[in-house]
Amino acid sequence: MSAVACHHGPATGAMPLSAQRGADTALLRRDITYLASDALEGRLTGTPGNDSAAAYIARRYALLQLDTLAGLHDNRCVSVSALRQTIEARTGNSIRLTDRQGIACSSPYLQPFTAKSVAAAHAGLPAALPTQNVVALLPGSDPALRNEFVVIGAHFDHLGRSAFNALDPAAGNAIRHGADDNASGTAAVMELARLFAHHPPRRSLIFVNFSGEELGLLGSQYFVDHSPVPLDHVFAMLNFDMVGRMQNDKLIVYGAATATELPGIVDSANVAPQFQIAKIGDGFGPSDQSSFYEKNIPVLFFFTGEHEDYHRATDVASKIDVGDEARVVEYAGRIARALADRSARLTYVRSASPAPMAATSGRNVWFGSVPDMGATDVAGVRLAGVTPNSPADKAGAKQGDIIVEFGGKPVKDLYAYTDALYSHQPGDVVQFKVLRDGAPVVLTATLGKRE
Ligand SMILES: [Zn+2]
Repeated sequence: MSAVACHHGPATGAMPLSAQRGADTALLRRDITYLASDALEGRLTGTPGNDSAAAYIARRYALLQLDTLAGLHDNRCVSVSALRQTIEARTGNSIRLTDRQGIACSSPYLQPFTAKSVAAAHAGLPAALPTQNVVALLPGSDPALRNEFVVIGAHFDHLGRSAFNALDPAAGNAIRHGADDNASGTAAVMELARLFAHHPPRRSLIFVNFSGEELGLLGSQYFVDHSPVPLDHVFAMLNFDMVGRMQNDKLIVYGAATATELPGIVDSANVAPQFQIAKIGDGFGPSDQSSFYEKNIPVLFFFTGEHEDYHRATDVASKIDVGDEARVVEYAGRIARALADRSARLTYVRSASPAPMAATSGRNVWFGSVPDMGATDVAGVRLAGVTPNSPADKAGAKQGDIIVEFGGKPVKDLYAYTDALYSHQPGDVVQFKVLRDGAPVVLTATLGKRE
């Protein structure tokens, strides 16, 4: 029996999957509670908990009678028993790996791939982790447009018991539940699938749940590199990552400038009771929409902002506000329908400025800051946290600090910050200034080398 069969999750028989107008808060609550439960152990890529989450999502799509896409599987439906071992992470954590036998081909909704992360390997995880995306198709209602696709996606993997990328190393091998990151987005995508299933728009919709995001957007990268449909038929991509912890009605929407028509669509979908929308034009950013934008596809990324539980064991289901999340689902649903029903194509716009996240690839200088990507209203770069034992940590930088100067250069935003950081070399000793509780503090870091 495969690990999938051992983790059935809640019974689905009683699940209310009937046609229903609004987003179902009870169903959102149930999905997030299961995905973020101890049973799934934080859904680390390559572990049984991650596979169980994938199986759960695939079962939902089967219940909704969504179509499968040909071409998801290549020849990867093989056992990789060499990886079936318990490994000791550098932290001393014992992490169970999945026996892949039978799992990769167990559902036609699964897109198997091998997640390879040098950084994760450096942290003690295996260099290659077999895993899978989950993909389903809702055919469009218009014969002339149904060979074009709007992709609606979210990653479902998280950190598991690994301290890799965790901001609470003192918690040891505690389960990082990832309720907001990203059980919330996963539930949102499944809920959109349910809402659309009975009333398909003109274009087809592809629902995709990515694995490997926390290891470096690996699932979405694999998807765009091995797309089951031609990428030039992908009309737009909507991504959900951390949509369960809204504060003060603030919703952050990345990618608004990736097509000239998008700002108008984003605004007109914002009906009463309205959100405070913080539009960020950039199509790059710290989640899976980047992989699509890189392939010349207009994107939107919905995000309710960082919080003190980000990448910590305390990101649990009880802290999710499913009422506000339901509003996000309905809002994004209006956008998805507007996109999928419109007759004219979108006008893709390539951002003129270099993307902060893209700029980090290929650079070898390491600081260890975790910018708060949702802090759009501060001058400077607010830190959501610092990587334990990183140069930033050793220098004394703390969560909540706002970097306003780095190496003598003023830092007004993330672009200025990445420019300032990457003008240095590993080993450089730099002073940087932060605002901590409003007061300036000057710190000194010795920059490291990114592996
Ligand atoms: Zn994350």
